This record gives sequence, C-alpha cells and structure tokens, in this order.
Amino acid sequence: GSTRVPSKAEESGGRGLETGAAVWVSNPSQVWTAGEVTQSTSSHVVVKLVSADSPEDDLEDLEVPHTGGKVRLLRRDTTIVDAAALQYDDLTNVPELHEAALLQAIADRFQRGRIYTLTGPVLLAVNPFRHMPGLYSPEMLRSFVSAEKLQPHIFSIANRAYQGILDHDESQTVLVSGESGAGKTETTKFVMHFLALTGAEAVVSEGEKPLSRVERQVLRSNPLLEAFGNAQTLRNHNSSRFGKYIELQFGFDDGLAGSKKRLIGTRIRTYLLETVRVIDHQPGERSFHIFYQALQAASAHLPELDGVVREHLGKIEGISCFKNLGDSKCSELLDDTGDFQATLAAMQTMGFHAHEVADVLRAVLAVLHVGNIEFTVPAKNSEASEVLPSTGASDDLKAPLDEASELLGLSGAQLAEVLCYRTMQAPGEQVIRMGNTTKQAAECRDALGRYLYHALFKHIVEKTNASIGFKPEATFCGVLDIFGFEFFKVNSFEQLCINFTNELLQQYFNNFIFENETILYQEEGVPWQDEDFPDNAGIVKLLQSSPSGIFPMLDEECFVIGGTSGSWHRKLIQTHQNHPSFGVVKLQNSTFIVKHFAGPVTYTVDGFLEKNRDRLSQDLVRCLAGSDWPFVRNCFKDSAENSVSRSPSIRGSPLSSNSPKVRAHRSTVSSEFRQQLQDLMGQIRTTTPHFVRCIKPNAENRAFVDAAVPDPRPLFDRSSVAEQLSYQGVLEAIRVARAGYPVRYYHFDFLAAFRCIACKDVQLEMEAAMRKFQESCADSFLVESIRRLLESEPLRSACENAVAVGRTRVF
Ligand code: ADP
Ligand code: MG
Repeated sequence: GSTRVPSKAEESGGRGLETGAAVWVSNPSQVWTAGEVTQSTSSHVVVKLVSADSPEDDLEDLEVPHTGGKVRLLRRDTTIVDAAALQYDDLTNVPELHEAALLQAIADRFQRGRIYTLTGPVLLAVNPFRHMPGLYSPEMLRSFVSAEKLQPHIFSIANRAYQGILDHDESQTVLVSGESGAGKTETTKFVMHFLALTGAEAVVSEGEKPLSRVERQVLRSNPLLEAFGNAQTLRNHNSSRFGKYIELQFGFDDGLAGSKKRLIGTRIRTYLLETVRVIDHQPGERSFHIFYQALQAASAHLPELDGVVREHLGKIEGISCFKNLGDSKCSELLDDTGDFQATLAAMQTMGFHAHEVADVLRAVLAVLHVGNIEFTVPAKNSEASEVLPSTGASDDLKAPLDEASELLGLSGAQLAEVLCYRTMQAPGEQVIRMGNTTKQAAECRDALGRYLYHALFKHIVEKTNASIGFKPEATFCGVLDIFGFEFFKVNSFEQLCINFTNELLQQYFNNFIFENETILYQEEGVPWQDEDFPDNAGIVKLLQSSPSGIFPMLDEECFVIGGTSGSWHRKLIQTHQNHPSFGVVKLQNSTFIVKHFAGPVTYTVDGFLEKNRDRLSQDLVRCLAGSDWPFVRNCFKDSAENSVSRSPSIRGSPLSSNSPKVRAHRSTVSSEFRQQLQDLMGQIRTTTPHFVRCIKPNAENRAFVDAAVPDPRPLFDRSSVAEQLSYQGVLEAIRVARAGYPVRYYHFDFLAAFRCIACKDVQLEMEAAMRKFQESCADSFLVESIRRLLESEPLRSACENAVAVGRTRVF
C-alpha cells in the first residue's frame, strides 16, 4: 500500500544490529530470507544469508548500508521460527510481529498441515487444495461448540458468531475475502454447515430427526446456486461468478423441539452476476455449469421431464452444437452428470414442481439456441441484416431461429423482426422502422441471451428464498462471499465496480482493526497515538462522492447528449489530475489509474458508458413480454411495464435479484449497484463482524510440490502469499497496529526474557515473583519486578519513553 509505515528496525537499515544478530532480509523472489549479521560497522552491516531449502548452500554475503537502500532488514526472532511458530495459534502473541515473521509463521504452520492462523480477531485460512482428514468431521464440529477461546479454525469463528446470537441476541456477519480460488466459497459453506448443524444438535433430544426442513434446504441451496452461478475458470474449476450475502436467521420455532435458537429462515442476496460468460469465455474456461450439466443429461433417461424439454434435449448431440459453449474441455475435477443429479435434487428440496424444473431447463436451452442465431446482409439492402437460415449443426435440429423462437414461445418471424430491426418514435410522430446492421443485430441477440440468463438466475434465487422463507425481524448471521480485489492486464467497468466494493469493505476492516486496537490499549491502560492508522477514505471519496466522484461523473456522462467514454475520460482528467489517488499513463490515451488501497490499477475507458447504460431494445422487451410462454412473459413484464429499456448490468449482466421494481429516473447500472452496496454496508454495520482472509498458497491450485514422493511438502509460494497478505490489508493492519509499540510481551514472558540483565539479587527476587505467579496467577508481583527491572541500568537509559507497562503486557 502507499501508506506503508516503516517499522523501527527498517528505518535504520542495519543500524543498531549487532554482529551475530539474526535478521530477515527482503529479497524479491523469496520475499524474506533468513540471514545473520557477520559484521557491523558505523556505515553498514554485512549479512550472511541462510537458504531455507538447503542450509548447506553457500549464498553470497550482502552488504547493507545503514541508509537501507533497496534492501530491508527486520530483526528475526530465533525463538519463534520454525517449530515454535506452532505455539502461536494467535500471532498477536508473537512478541515482535512484522511482515517477515508473519509470513514465516504462516508458512511453517502450513507445512505442518495447519491451514488456519489467527492474528487477533482475524482468521487467516490458507487453501490446502486437498482433503484434510478429520478437519471438518462431526467430532471436530462438536469440539468447538461453546468453546470460550477463539481458536484458529473456521468452526471457531462460526461458533463465536453463533454464541453472539444466543448470548446477546445480536446479529453477526462473517466477512470472507480472498482472490479467486483462495477458498471463500468453501469457507462460506463450512460456516453454513456449522450453523445449521450446531443449531439443530443444540435443540434435538436423542432419537429425533436432527435436521429441520429449513436446515436441509439451506445446505442444499449451495449446489443449486453453484450450478447456475459458477463456472470453470483458469483459476478455479468451480469459480463463483457472482457475489452473495446469505442471512441465516435464528429463532425459536414453535413447530420444532427444544428451547434454544436454531436456524429458522434465510435470505440470499446476489451481486454482479457475470453474464457476459453466457456469450463468451476465455480458452480453457467454460460457461456456467448448468449448460454442460443439462447437455450431459440430454442422453440420460429423464422420465420426470415434460414433453417439450425432453424432445428438445433429445435432439442435441453435445456441446459442440452451441457456439457460445465453444469447445471447452471439462476439468477432471468436475462431474457434470453427477452434478446435474445434485442440481435436480436441490431443486426438488427447494420445492420446484416438475413443470417448474422443465421451465428452467427450457430457458437454459433457449439461451443456448439464441446464441446460435447468425446474421447476414442480403444483397439488395445493405442497411438491414437478416437471419442466416441454418448453421447445419445437426440433422435433427431446425434452424437456430426456429429452435429459439419455439422455446421462447414466439414465432420465428417475431423474433427475427426484433433482432434485425428497431423502431423509433419521436413524440407526436410516426413510428420509423430501421434496419440493424449485422453487428447491431448480433449485439441485440447477445443482450437478449444475457438478460434471459440473468432473469433465470434471479428466478432461482427468488424461488429458493421463497421456499426456505425468511422473517424480517429475526436475529441473523450474515455470510459475505464476494470477489476480491481484481487487477488484470486490461481492467474495465466490471473491475472498477468490484474494486470499489473491496475499497468499502477495506474501509470497514480498517475501522474494525482500529477499534480493536483502541480497546486493547484502553484495557491495558496504555495511551496511544492513532495518526498513522491506514485510511482509504480519500479513495472511497474519489470514487463515489457526488457530483465529481468517478462514478457520479460516469452516470452524468450517460445522460449528456453526445457523451462518450472519451468525453467522460477527458472530464475525469480535468477534475482529478491532481488527486493523490488518481493518475494517468503517459502515451496511453484512453486509460486512467486509481491508486487503490491494494495497489494501483490501470483502467481502460473503452466501453464504460455502454456498460453503464446497457440497453436492451424496447422492441425486444415488448416482443418477449407478449410471449406464449408465461415464464418468459414474467421475465420481461417488469421491464415492459416500467418502459425502462435497459437490463441493469455489471460484467455485461443484469443486476441482482433485489433491484427495485420501479427504477428511479435516470438510473444506471453503477447507480443501482452503488445503492445495493450502500444497503449491504448499512446492514453489515448493524452486526458484529468476523473477518476471514482466505489465501491461495500457489497459482497452480496444487497441494504438494511433488505428490509422488513419500511425505510430500505442501506447495507454498512465499511471494504470492506475501502479496495477498499485503493487498488484503493484513500486513498493513499489523504494521500500523504495532507502530506505537512493535514489541509486546506478557508480563511473565517479559521477565523470563530479560531478567538476565538485572543484577544477581534482583534476579533472585524476580524468580521468586515468577514462581508465585505460577502458583497463584497473581500478576502484581510480576509488575513490581518489571518496574524494578526497567528502573535499573542499563534499561533505564535505553528504554526511556519506549516502554509502557500495561495491565497484562509490557509494550
Ligand atoms: P473461491 O470461492 O475463493 O474462488 P473456492 O472456495 O471455490 O474458492 O475454492 C477453490 C477450491 O479449493 C475448491 O473447489 C476446493 O477444491 C479447494 N478448497 C478450498 N478450501 C478448501 C479447504 N478448506 N479444504 C480443502 N480444499 C479446499
Ligand atoms: Mg467462490
């Protein structure tokens, strides 16, 4: 981050490091390498590096000037490295915690199969990419119920949230963050699993059926949402392509046994479904799972499906029939046929009737056939395009237009008309019919596919919410599973929306850490200064403040006559060129930089305006609202009624399920999304937060360096993990929280470490105090000894104003 505060040791480069001192040396590839000072002069120190992988390797000695230069040195506490790191389940108990020590401790723990680590109230979870025997077993789950102390395990966090609901009747939120493939969704599922089972076990007497309807449905909602909202990507074979906030509601249910609260309802909200994936995806990736599941199942015997769908499924020969699915290969980690059975079972659990299941599958097929429609320019009229008769994909299939229109409940002529022509009407004038170019017609087709798929997704979420049911007033535990910070080679509107979300969540996290730290110092009775605390309020303001924030200016430009992404870009530069969090790249005309909390991101402005407007032609909406098929009629009814010619969309997609029915005048995709976010943050602020930071140990999604050898080593990419710790704000939080007093010892540990400095009789006195403490836990003896030690030389002159004795710790 840009507000990095150097720790004390760093500021001085190697100054103050004596010969023999163990140090961490910053090194780009390893991030931090262990070393030892072999020479210390008035101008520099010489450090001998120790290779972690092969200690016998002779690494070059390094000369580090006191000014530091490019190399940074941090003192290495040899008592905590390696095995001893295991002793610190909570890293805030490590006396001298800085980024090198943090990284090493996480690495050491991970090598020994400990994927969870606490830093104070924040749980770090490193994805093991393998089944961890026993880690989530029923016995393990039970062992966390009512445990007082926070332990490094996701169940411990879930239990703390549950206890907060039981004991204080306060709503909670578990905020899960991390990059794609870091394990957010799995973590979310463990939380849901814990809350559903623990609630049930707490109230059920022996012999009863443990899970209630709601609990079963809540657990089944995951495979259902994943079928429609997840896809295989290069980073994760089961990547969620939407964000979600699940409210798990607790209360007493008269119909159920027991006197303790248990799960009684749920509300799922979804955000930013990536519907461009319906149209296209990168090589090596796939579209949404449900397409492949349904097509795999086409050959299977599905007696429960209704006639139209069965007939249509039967004609399909495989995914190669569909242009939008490309020739994507399936990862061996996916089982489409098996997953389809799970999807169907989940729909059943959610109370979908057979005809409703058929509707859903019919819509899935319709989206695919719409994607196959192609256009051509007839010889006579070069203005308008017409639908290309056939692609000849399969003998049984009719032309794509006929297949699509039949499924959509329209005539082929109707559908062709709204794709190839558009109408315009000025007030009081005649309707003008104009031909679309093939490009315009294709855009129309793709917008239809995206809109339809999003409507389907919304339908699934709404139906799930309706059948589980929710109580507006209940105490709840929310779980937030939303994409982390994104920075690609080319970043567009979608990334800006996502990174804005992360900026808000980061701000919330910072405030939480800040409050936590304030409480610690208060409890210890130690004054502290807070001026260095990381603060991203300036960036949040740059993005959202009205009227000159980046988003409000984008909205404004959407309504300016002749406004383009380029004109918006020029205005942005005029307004913000001197803003510390804004930048431009020389020689790259259509880009701008936002210096996010997590790092600078270059955005390319092309398409921003169109994506923010995302129009669906009014003719299309009207046409589909008049379909013979009630399902499609309902999907388009609202848009037609409100005569809003747009599908609100992010990532080229219509927005989530809870956008208001009647849209405000002049609404845009980003204004609606920001409203949703504001609602979400407002709700989260009323709850007690719990933070889980998920970490991806390597980019290959691999468990081991070499799985074939006996006792294989987990694959842990230090530099990638360090980067994630940095942009998730973990380093920043630790660094700044420790800026005042970087080293902290419990009273007892302090004496144990430093009593050797005192003279002989004081030492004996101290040892007596320590013994008394061990017998009686009476801290007061310790404090007295600590004070005597601090008042004696050489500590007195060395530690002036640098040491504070708190109630339980020495800072
Ligand atoms: P994200 O939602 O952050 O993109 P996922 O939760 O989908 O990532 O995790 C990606 C994959 O990593 C999962 O499909 C699973 O194989 C593996 N994984 C994640 N967390 C765990 C865990 N705690 N134990 C074992 N495997 C895990
Ligand atoms: Mg996910």
